[in-house]
Amino acid sequence: MAHTPESGGTMMDTQSALLQLEQSEGCRLSWNAWPSSRIEASRTIVPFGVMISPLRAVEGSPTLPYEPLPCKGCASILNCYCQVDYASKMWVCPFCHTRNGFPAHYAGISESNLPAELFPQYVSLTYTLRTAPAPPPAFVFTVDLCQPREDLAACVDSIKQTIGSLPERSLVGLVTFGERVHLYELGYGNCSKLWVLRGDASIPKDKLASMLLLSNQTAPQQKQNHQMNDGSGGCEGRFLVPLSECEFALEAALDELQPDAQDVAVGFRPRRCTGAAMDVAVSLFEAAGGVSSGRVMMFLSGPITHGPGLMVDIDMAVPLRCHKDFDKGTGVAKHFKKSHAFFTGVASRAVASGVAVDLFACAMDQVGVAEMAPTAERTGGVIVLADGFDHPVYRNTIKSMFERDPATGQCKMGFQATSDVFCTREVRVSGCIGAVTAAATGASSSGAASGRVSETDVGCGGTTSWRLGCVDERSSYAYYFDIVQSHNNAIRPGDPFYLQFQTRYVAAATGETRVKVTTLARRWCDPARLDELVAGFDQEAAGVLMARISVWRGETEDAFDVLRWLDRTLIRLCSKYGEYQKDDPNTFRLSPYMSLYPQFIFHLRRSPFLQVFNSSPDETAYFRSVLNREGVSTAAVMIQPTLLRYALNPNGGAPVGMPAVLDVSSLAPDVILLLDTFFHVVVFHGQTVAQWRDAGYHEKPEHAAFKALLEVPQNDASALINSRMPTPRFVDCDQNGSQARFVLARLNPSATHNTAANNAGEVIFTDDVSFSVFVEHLARTAVAGNV
Ligand SMILES: [Zn+2]
Repeated sequence: MAHTPESGGTMMDTQSALLQLEQSEGCRLSWNAWPSSRIEASRTIVPFGVMISPLRAVEGSPTLPYEPLPCKGCASILNCYCQVDYASKMWVCPFCHTRNGFPAHYAGISESNLPAELFPQYVSLTYTLRTAPAPPPAFVFTVDLCQPREDLAACVDSIKQTIGSLPERSLVGLVTFGERVHLYELGYGNCSKLWVLRGDASIPKDKLASMLLLSNQTAPQQKQNHQMNDGSGGCEGRFLVPLSECEFALEAALDELQPDAQDVAVGFRPRRCTGAAMDVAVSLFEAAGGVSSGRVMMFLSGPITHGPGLMVDIDMAVPLRCHKDFDKGTGVAKHFKKSHAFFTGVASRAVASGVAVDLFACAMDQVGVAEMAPTAERTGGVIVLADGFDHPVYRNTIKSMFERDPATGQCKMGFQATSDVFCTREVRVSGCIGAVTAAATGASSSGAASGRVSETDVGCGGTTSWRLGCVDERSSYAYYFDIVQSHNNAIRPGDPFYLQFQTRYVAAATGETRVKVTTLARRWCDPARLDELVAGFDQEAAGVLMARISVWRGETEDAFDVLRWLDRTLIRLCSKYGEYQKDDPNTFRLSPYMSLYPQFIFHLRRSPFLQVFNSSPDETAYFRSVLNREGVSTAAVMIQPTLLRYALNPNGGAPVGMPAVLDVSSLAPDVILLLDTFFHVVVFHGQTVAQWRDAGYHEKPEHAAFKALLEVPQNDASALINSRMPTPRFVDCDQNGSQARFVLARLNPSATHNTAANNAGEVIFTDDVSFSVFVEHLARTAVAGNV
């Protein structure tokens, strides 16, 4: 019944079994067998975690047009792991062991007539509830006017394209800002009406309501038939207006947008009140009575220089903060704490109103993504960093956000998502890392749920219930668990245990409420059988779960402490699960189930998630937000990039990219490399290849093979870029060119200045150690066994 890779199988069997499970469950676990003793569990070093992408389609999994059946004891949902007594029409909850009766409409149930949720293959199911449709979502376009005319035109153009792909039932709003905030009353008759609000301070909700002459809220049921009005009334119908009623007014307003009229002296930055504008946009949702969910989409072209959330002075003599300024906490980084606190406050209000905040930072400069990050990260919003509003990274990303499901033709976005986790009695929930906030209220904050909460927090803990905000099929969450010994019954090795994830959300396109229920079963293993434990280790999932913890800790702890913690956990893991004779590093071996893990941690240590010296604070915040959003296989590429190597095909045909080691030894003058770091796709031409290309060899008919060598990596790169969201940056570079740093920064420095004599590859002068030195040191420390 429970899925556990058998320890007797081969490594390949286990890995393919894990991938098969991912297909049916949409989940990956760090450990697929958990030790049946609390003591042993506390010594496994890598935490028990589950990575889940709740909205990702699971092949063959049906959508059921009825309510799920909850357990009356704990609110977990009937699933294929429940024991069913067909004679007495009862089912036993595998989590709290309550006996539940089936309701009348299940009267026909029998072993040969099962409802879909009891089919053993349907471990992951979606229910569509028969509730009244939720009110439509609203999209508030919030546009930075402090940009040159042609940039603003590109921004407007992309917004107009986005409007064309919004769900038909959407409401829309428009806010622009420069030195002040401009709020458009799109529902005002046939001419555009605009409210100018101060940009130097945030306006309290009540004051804003009275300034805008907002009347008391209309009841939700009356909102369906509001009308165009004459300057009073509620927020909906005036500032948040059905797209179908104001498309013309919105497009006209967008077409008329002009760069902000303020005078900017030479040597000064424009006054840009990004914080005040976001504040007003979120207030619109609050004024609408919290019945609308939606997105505040921030189109940003420069730093916050004015009003709440200020990050830098207007005097250009003061530079933008960089990472090393944070350590000092003074000088140019003096505004950071206050700004971050302001946006954290806005984030909490956005979460409470069911609003996601998107940050489209399209500028050569930093715009304050590091300060604003909580607004996107806690609400399920998207962060994009691009050079401009006509840049493909931005254009393709915003396009794919609103992509329709090819099967239904509907927008795939979900709003107001919540998540509840259920577990077997011997398991406790430690926390979640991802775009989540702990839900203070709800069914699962009851006594039954509090019994499932671990005393140790990992990430956002202290609960079994979270608010996820806006979700799509890419949204992925990392849940962490703890094992406790229950008082009365010892856990028996071989017995199954269960976890259930319930994700509830409103489909943007239809307003339907859906519940995705995924139930996992695994087996307890004998704490004395380390081989069973190790055979269920998923190296990639473990690495990504550890990466999320590292980034979480990195937000509050010193970067050095995080690296030291990662190193210590790796050494302890090797010390515990490796095979070796004490104090003899040469005898050290790791099981194939774990042998790739040290390499993964090696690359994580060097990744832009933990090493910040090559990135701006905005870039770091962006990288981390994407890591916290993506599932195992994509996050794995971000941590340990993939490298393909192309060489001239001796038979004259098209070359094929061969996987190459992520090491400087893969560089050679006569090859082309294709590096995929997730954020960048880089085509790197060896020196000789570049010379031949510059000499135009590929244009001569006798060098068709060389022409193919140049073309194939470019085509492969395009295919990668087109399949990815957010769209990666494309870098085309030559060995010895300045852009080659994109490749060199991610390769293992096997040939440093110390070892250059032994290696023909390119020398990287670097202070960090090579993988072989890393592994040597690891083996030496692990076999000493004193960690
Ligand atoms: Zn129950």
